[in-house]
Amino acid sequence: MNIIQSDASVLPDLANRNETDIAIQIESLECVCLATEIAKPVVTSFGKMLKRPALFLRIKDRHGNAGYGEVWCNFPSAGATYRKNLLGEEIFSLVVGRNFHSPAECYSFLTSKLQVLKNQSGDIGAISQCIAGLDVACWDLIARRADLPIRKLFSRASDVVPAYASGINPDSALEQMESARELGFNQFKLKVGFGLGRDTTNVEVFAKSLLPDETFMIDANQAWDVANALNASQRFKQFSPLWLEEPICADRPTREWQTLKTSTTIPLAAGENFADKEAFHEALSADWIDVVQPDVCKWGGLTGCIEIGRQAVAAGKMFCPHSLGGGIALAASAELLAIVGGTGMVEIDSNPNPFREKIFTQRTHNGCLHLHDQPGLNIDESEVVRLFDT
Ligand SMILES: [Mg+2]
Repeated sequence: MNIIQSDASVLPDLANRNETDIAIQIESLECVCLATEIAKPVVTSFGKMLKRPALFLRIKDRHGNAGYGEVWCNFPSAGATYRKNLLGEEIFSLVVGRNFHSPAECYSFLTSKLQVLKNQSGDIGAISQCIAGLDVACWDLIARRADLPIRKLFSRASDVVPAYASGINPDSALEQMESARELGFNQFKLKVGFGLGRDTTNVEVFAKSLLPDETFMIDANQAWDVANALNASQRFKQFSPLWLEEPICADRPTREWQTLKTSTTIPLAAGENFADKEAFHEALSADWIDVVQPDVCKWGGLTGCIEIGRQAVAAGKMFCPHSLGGGIALAASAELLAIVGGTGMVEIDSNPNPFREKIFTQRTHNGCLHLHDQPGLNIDESEVVRLFDT
């Protein structure tokens, strides 16, 4: 499969936008690093989250216009503090006071400028996550300045995006499904990777609890090798999940993914742990991937993920942005899907997270988010401002 190589300049395409509208000069960059206790851990095949961390950032231009971003920081537990230091010590001096013609130019500049540090430190992920969060803030700023939701900078963006409930853990799967159903969801993603016997029982009970118009997906969070993944997919295929997500490690060789692809009828999903654009291109070129899932605050920001999303949709894939963070990340993810379009869904974590619940106030009805028309990211700005200014 040939991947259309773009010029990496994701630009708003509304005819009445001129260059000045999307130019940006950052005058200040602030970060707030937070964590809150939760009563019930978020359970995955590789560990439990005992707290909900968050790293939010705010930029302002010389006119006082603000833009907000979020940096993925779920793991390890000290990750938020480290990324905050990266932003303050390595990125602040690169961007503050510099003129950029667009968010995409800022993204490309940082990606190029920080490549040596990525190589020297080996901290590819953390640095990419900081760049992604800052990119989201740049898009938020230019959209707020234009008094438009980010998606309205693009001419064919939708105001409605399908959504699904994710993060459903093996200990309380049916209760979480029912709670999500009451919140307007009709598609649900179950965690697996806790032993084949337990997984099979859970998948069967889960599948048989679906109502006629409902569907489900399975997420193994990189739990297996190829042999175990094939075993699991053989067991699960009778329940017709919409996809099987990360059955093996995201960075396993293409030939292993292709082996899975040719041996199972369940569509394969991945992308939240791809380290760079080349990994997306390789998966699309090799054609083993069915569902493409970048996380807008983990790699790429809106600039990188719009480009990958368009390539995924052009290749006939489902584009389903990953999200498991605070409300800014989710808001950016929803705007991203609205811009990219296609047949995908936005992922909404069904586990409690006060940051997400307060900041992202849009609700799901009949399996869809009907996006608000507030400027920028469509978040409750007063809640975010309170985090920075108190
Ligand atoms: Mg996942």
